[in-house]
Amino acid sequence: MTNRTPHVLIIGAGTGGLCLAHGLRRAGISVEVYERHRTRADGLLGYRVGIGPTGSRALRDCLPPELFAVYLATCARSPRYFNVVDQRLRPTASFPLRPDTHPVDTERSVARMTLRQVLLTGLEDVVRFDRTFTRYEQHDDGRVTAHFADGGSATGDLLVAADGTHSAVRRQYLPHAVIRDAGTINIATRIPLTDDTRALLSPAVQRGITLIFGSGGVMGVLHVMEFKWDAEGRLKPEIDRADAALLADWPGLRHDSTRDNINLVIWSTARRFPEDVLDRRGSELIQVALDLTTNWHPHLRELFSRADPDSALPIRVSTSEPVPPWQSSTVTLLGDAIHTMTPGRGVGANTALRDANLLRRQLLLVAAGEKSLTQAVADYEAVMVPYGFARVADSLARSGTSGDDRMYKPVFGRVALLGARGYFRVTSRVPRLRRKFVDDFYSYRGEED
Ligand SMILES: Cc1cc2nc3c(=O)[nH]c(=O)nc-3n(C[C@H](O)[C@H](O)[C@H](O)COP(=O)(O)OP(=O)(O)OC[C@H]3O[C@@H](n4cnc5c(N)ncnc54)[C@H](O)[C@@H]3O)c2cc1C
Repeated sequence: MTNRTPHVLIIGAGTGGLCLAHGLRRAGISVEVYERHRTRADGLLGYRVGIGPTGSRALRDCLPPELFAVYLATCARSPRYFNVVDQRLRPTASFPLRPDTHPVDTERSVARMTLRQVLLTGLEDVVRFDRTFTRYEQHDDGRVTAHFADGGSATGDLLVAADGTHSAVRRQYLPHAVIRDAGTINIATRIPLTDDTRALLSPAVQRGITLIFGSGGVMGVLHVMEFKWDAEGRLKPEIDRADAALLADWPGLRHDSTRDNINLVIWSTARRFPEDVLDRRGSELIQVALDLTTNWHPHLRELFSRADPDSALPIRVSTSEPVPPWQSSTVTLLGDAIHTMTPGRGVGANTALRDANLLRRQLLLVAAGEKSLTQAVADYEAVMVPYGFARVADSLARSGTSGDDRMYKPVFGRVALLGARGYFRVTSRVPRLRRKFVDDFYSYRGEED
């Protein structure tokens, strides 16, 4: 067994890869991250990601404490309700969520771009932009060389695939792994939050995560994202002094164009969309959303009409099949690169963060001379694979994110919709069931190893 501190190569500066890089660096383990994007501001990342206790715990464990404080200060105002409404905005159910007084055990709303800027902070000397990974070679001594599209290469002791759903590392390492189309399409939009657009929403919807169970097989989710800075990027006068001091010193805000907004996303079975929907952008794409929601409340349609055309994005939803066990080595994977899941349970990023934290803990044991590198990778994979694919299955079964969901069948669809609405209505009105629903929400989103 070698107790040499490993040099780790991470492919992909996304949620999981950057969290791992922080965790390793704090532990004195040398790490480099290779990212295909050319700059830290590239990528369509303006949308909301919900980070639950699992994700926040990983961030707290991996990030330097002052950067974890910046993460907390850059989250949008936390949701206080989990609402279910119908397409006419009539409330079906509303579950009060816990106050956000705890740094970890809270449901948080983050903008993807803001989270990326937080995670890039302090890693400037570690992240190599404009380096697209193409292939790797494993040497007889276990070391791994990664090759890049620019003709360059890098060699390390461990190669971590954190390169997302279409992972080039996974395609080489586990060529039999199956990523497949889940059969649904999302259209994501962002509407600037102004007095006029806010007035289109009830107080509970303004302060909540709102699931829209529309009739006719079109679903939606709406989040109001309010940050501590204004439309010009200046800190709002009402924010507390500690947050103001943290954010004033944080360079990430200069790279982040995220502003207060309403995230409105709709989805349905792919059959309901025009064939070329994935090629459409801007007002043409917003028109598709409007055409699919003709029976929705005028306020929701008004929001679509006011959406920023540049924000409109079509997303083909993917999922993955469980991968049979493989022989662990000095290549491993985390996050979407191994267990791509639909957004049904909203835990893809949380699971990538959980993986990063688990792998970090294993690599600390290698650095301490308590385990060999391949044993640490094997122990990581033995825990990560079962929980990762359990989340893939749970996510596919939820909220109509599979194109085969009963919700999209002609007659069964109406029955399934009535059943789902009935479940939420009863659960929210019976105190014991309501408490259990909220407890289950947090325990699912707070699971740890
Ligand atoms: C509509 C939608 C809503 C979602 N909402 C939530 C939510 O509320 N909560 C939640 O937990 N999850 C959510 N998710 C899932 C979440 O976004 C992902 O699971 C998460 O971002 C995965 O993180 P990752 O680190 O594995 O990959 P990513 O964050 O995708 O990072 C991969 C990185 O690798 C880079 N890369 C790719 N190929 C290469 C290459 N060849 N060379 C170099 N770099 C490369 C990419 O540019 C990228 O930066 C949602 C997903 C969708 C589609």
